[in-house]
Amino acid sequence: MEDKISNDIDLAVSQIKNCSRIVAFSGSGISAESGIPTFRDPGGLWDQLDPWEVGTVPGLLSALESKSDQLKPIFLNILDTFEKSEPNQAHIALSELEKVGKLIGIITQNIDNLHQDAGNTRVVEMHGNLFRMKCLSCGSEETYERQSFISKTRETMNQIPAFNIDNLLKLAARCSKCGELTRPDVVMFGEAVHQLRESYQLAQSADLMLVLGTSGVVYPAADLPGQAKARGAVVIEINPAENAFASMTDVYIPLKAGEALKEIMNRYGMT
Ligand code: NAD
Repeated sequence: MEDKISNDIDLAVSQIKNCSRIVAFSGSGISAESGIPTFRDPGGLWDQLDPWEVGTVPGLLSALESKSDQLKPIFLNILDTFEKSEPNQAHIALSELEKVGKLIGIITQNIDNLHQDAGNTRVVEMHGNLFRMKCLSCGSEETYERQSFISKTRETMNQIPAFNIDNLLKLAARCSKCGELTRPDVVMFGEAVHQLRESYQLAQSADLMLVLGTSGVVYPAADLPGQAKARGAVVIEINPAENAFASMTDVYIPLKAGEALKEIMNRYGMT
């Protein structure tokens, strides 16, 4: 490891030792080492699909009409990826930091539930959760266990003769309270993010923010490190490819999140 990186890891460890209200702000990069590709990195979902085509509700509905054959294998592949994924060293380190009373919460843009699987209890999910279904009529929410949700969804998709809207609607899960249609509780482009007030409050109450694996281009989430910094928090960013929040970062570690946090925990004496 280069001297500069090693020195910056030491600096991060001493900042973490000095702080008691750490908040992590995570993006898809934190789950890359769990096997879930990010959207924008090479090989990511945006290499296969146009975000503006499938990332909005009208776009997705129209793509389901015009290119359903192309979408089905992509969706099945996404299910396989999420089925195999498990928390990595980065998720585990955040859970350890919560257990010792250092980390007060996580604000995530991810929908993969891996922070909760690692054991974190206060996770603000700005972009929702793939394993939670929300009723389009009464708004009731139901959260499912990862494996059973994936098996059931895969079974449903494989049963459908043609992967189009009519067939999907016939087989879509129904609300257990009112019997109406449900949809995955994930935020698409153009939709309001979840728990915005709680995200801002958490960011503003941090004395240290760990910014992990985010390109900082998706708003309003990308505003949060600035909110923490404006209230005096130390900002530590970990991202192997870019220092997306360079103007406010106190310590930048150009490593993968799992690799860097494992080393930080080792040097902290927590492993
Ligand atoms: P992004 O795809 O825009 O950026 C990913 C960032 O992670 C990049 O800056 C990249 O350099 C960095 N990165 C890649 N590998 C890394 C690693 N091992 N450790 C640390 N950093 C790494 O992702 P974003 O900023 O989160 O925003 C895009 C949207 O993608 C979010 O809204 C999120 O909801 C969604 N998304 C979520 C998942 C998931 O739930 N796991 C996966 C893909 C996309």
